[in-house]
This record gives sequence, structure tokens and C-alpha cells, in this order.
Amino acid sequence: MATIFTKIINGEIPCHKIAENESCFAFLDINPLAIGHTLVVPKAEVDYIFALNDDTLKELTLFAKSIALAVEKAVPCQRIGVAVIGLEVPHTHIHLVPINNVSDINFARPKLKLTNEELAETAAAIRACL
Ligand code: AMP
Repeated sequence: MATIFTKIINGEIPCHKIAENESCFAFLDINPLAIGHTLVVPKAEVDYIFALNDDTLKELTLFAKSIALAVEKAVPCQRIGVAVIGLEVPHTHIHLVPINNVSDINFARPKLKLTNEELAETAAAIRACL
């Protein structure tokens, strides 16, 4: 069965899309730790990041870099924190989280409650910085 991220990539489930290329896709996390929290995923449905083949891992990393630089421009922060957890969704994803201190990327913290409009505005602001 397709993962929820494959359904997002295929347009079967809505998302706040940031960008895509031939092999990768980026969209806002629906339960963000911070405004601008973005997920970067390979289109290939592979659960574990270190099970990706080298070419896909390279493409994913370079795509994540381009997205992170846009998030950093769009959202005031000290830098973009990077995390790979993957315990919830079995489809490789890199979390890009705008941070000002280490607690901003603590996944045990309660998530922000943002409206659909707030997420849409943030996604548009990031897309404008690509
Ligand atoms: P983890 O697998 O632990 O790295 O976490 C999966 C992440 O995916 C969580 O931060 C969720 O908020 C996020 N997530 C799950 N479903 C969706 C969705 N439909 N749209 C956007 N983000 C999602």
C-alpha cells in the first residue's frame, strides 16, 4: 500500500507544496515544530534513508539544501536544523526546521497549531525565495 507521502506526491492527499524535481518533493509538515518546518522526501518509496541508493541520497541531499536555503530566507531564524526520525511514516523524509536554539528541534515538544491559511502563507513565502 502506498505511503501517505506517496499519496501526497501523487496529489491524492493535499499538502502545502514547496517544490519538486524529478526525484524529490518538498512540502510543509502539517504538525510543525516551528513555522516553516518542511519535509523533503524522495519520490522513491524507501523507508530508511540509509537504504536509499547513492544517487538518490545525493539528489535528496542537494534538493534539501536548495529548499533549506529558501526556508532560511523566508523565515527569520538563526539557521535550519536538520533531522531524520522516520518512526511515524515509513517513507524517507528529512525534517528542515528553522531554529534559534536547540530546544526548537526537540521532537518531544508539543507541535504548533497553525491554520490552513497560515501554512499556505508560509509555503508561498518559501516558494518566493526559491
Ligand atoms: P517521523 O516519521 O517521526 O519523522 O514524523 C513524520 C512527520 O510527518 C511528522 O512530523 C508529521 O507531522 C508529518 N506528517 C504526517 N502526515 C503528514 C501530512 N499528511 N502532511 C504533512 N506532514 C505530515
